Amino acid sequence: NNDAFLARQAEFESNVRSYPRKLPLAIAKAHGVWITDVENKQYLDCLAGAGTLALGHNHPEVLQSIQNVITSGLPLHTLDLTTPLKDQFSEALLSLLPGQGKEYCLQFTGPSGADAVEAALKLAKKVTGRSGVISFSGGYHGMTHGALSVTGNLSPKEAVDGMMPEVQFMPYPHLYRCPLGLGGEAGVKALTYYFENLINDVESGVRKPAAVILEAVQGEGGVNPAPIEWLQRIRKVTQEHGILLILDEVQAGFARTGKFFAFEHAGIEPDIIVMSKAVGGGLPLAVLGIKKQFDAWSPGHHTGTFRGNQLAMATGLTTLKILKEQDIAGKVAEQGEWLKAQLAEMQKRYPVIGHIRGLGMMIGIEIVKPNEAADHMGAYPADGELSALLQKKCFEAGLILERGGRHGAVLRLLPSLLISNDELKIFLDKFEQALLGAGI
Ligand code: PMP
Repeated sequence: NNDAFLARQAEFESNVRSYPRKLPLAIAKAHGVWITDVENKQYLDCLAGAGTLALGHNHPEVLQSIQNVITSGLPLHTLDLTTPLKDQFSEALLSLLPGQGKEYCLQFTGPSGADAVEAALKLAKKVTGRSGVISFSGGYHGMTHGALSVTGNLSPKEAVDGMMPEVQFMPYPHLYRCPLGLGGEAGVKALTYYFENLINDVESGVRKPAAVILEAVQGEGGVNPAPIEWLQRIRKVTQEHGILLILDEVQAGFARTGKFFAFEHAGIEPDIIVMSKAVGGGLPLAVLGIKKQFDAWSPGHHTGTFRGNQLAMATGLTTLKILKEQDIAGKVAEQGEWLKAQLAEMQKRYPVIGHIRGLGMMIGIEIVKPNEAADHMGAYPADGELSALLQKKCFEAGLILERGGRHGAVLRLLPSLLISNDELKIFLDKFEQALLGAGI
């Protein structure tokens, strides 16, 4: 049973193991949005490999594409040598970048999102000859040294001292906790003032950075969509000041927010686009999209062994094709709005639901303490404890959800983008069951 497997894993693994503590199941099989454990219990999976499985578990065409590689005689490992499959994948991916990718080139980095972030930071330094980076509160970019340095969350940094020194954090807009202060006109003005008057000003102490890195919709930070005008203004000021704009689309990319890339909501073009998770269709792959004028690498300046995973290019190619041909972004955009409206109805009955936000199938539900005093913006204190209890009750009701944001108080929905409307109704039923189960 589950307990026996979990006990054995606890013996095998170091203390670092994380998900099995929150989600104590041993998975036997999975299909679509459903996971079945070794005790034959079914769960609606709204985590989907942290957003990696855009088409859900074991999509038949994705499985078939693996089969095709296996029978084609292609080597599994190629470093980054050229193959017909790599050619097809590159063409398909480039065509989905802004302007059909005409101004971009690709760089295959190591297999994880953090690898791609490292490459982006290094490239920005090389292009500009500067070393600083501006990043944002609540941003998440990975666990390697550079990526963690630009991550705006102190708790994973507590493990080690001494991050990259030249990272400046700026506040990221938050629709609930400071609705007007940062995303509205005043926030945009403050941001512009910072770039135009403080950067490189002798007395401000702010050195001009190489790059600004951000997520257009923060994921781990608690599902925070950036206001469109704020993103547009950042694009404008970075361009005017010769600072590279890096958009981390590792989680929000690939139709998840109702556009192919989340930055498309603001109609902006980043200098570097960081892609991983869904780009490999469930297998490890990470790629940068780089504006050609910033492709400043010299041979040998950024290499790595695992950059040519043929299986991941096959599953990635199939995923990209289905996302594009079936206009999954459009479907997901509508479902997101419908789901937020349903949750807003539920919020009337359960005031612990403090705020509902997000786009497409990237939705956050912030759990609060409604009986305590609200802050000057009208937001109640975040309730991380209750959100942890709700995550547990959801799990018992057969619903897998992850948490994020301040104090882990935001329940996050990242299901397969092929989730049906009926399955969304099952989600709502199970979520309400969990609220009742938690005694709310
Ligand atoms: N950037 C973002 C926005 C992410 O959500 C993540 C992972 N959750 C990463 C980077 C890091 O990716 P990986 O875990 O594959 O290193």
